[in-house]
Amino acid sequence: MSDLGAYIDPELCSFCGRTREECGKLVLGAGIAICLECAQNAMALHKTTQTHAAAEPWRDMNVDEVLDLLPKISAVAAQVESRLTAWVNVARSKGASWARVGESLGMTRQSAWERFK
Ligand SMILES: [Zn+2]
Repeated sequence: MSDLGAYIDPELCSFCGRTREECGKLVLGAGIAICLECAQNAMALHKTTQTHAAAEPWRDMNVDEVLDLLPKISAVAAQVESRLTAWVNVARSKGASWARVGESLGMTRQSAWERFK
């Protein structure tokens, strides 16, 4: 089992990919974290009549901007995976069987064990 440090102390904003050092305090959600700037942007969006963020933000990006974004998305994905593993460890520490963990995630007991052991 990995430790729970990844859950307790996420390092990246899940929305912009900036580090805690770059953006300060992060508010935690279900497997994600958000910085103040991203939360403020979300609040501003909620105050408009716009119902969602741009559906295809890549349309106005050049290839270098897209390539710059890839490692940020990859780092956020790794953080989410780490936090999922930490939450599985919490469930296991509270007595959940691998079968129940697998059922919760829509996978077999064996798949859950292999992924999170
Ligand atoms: Zn952010």
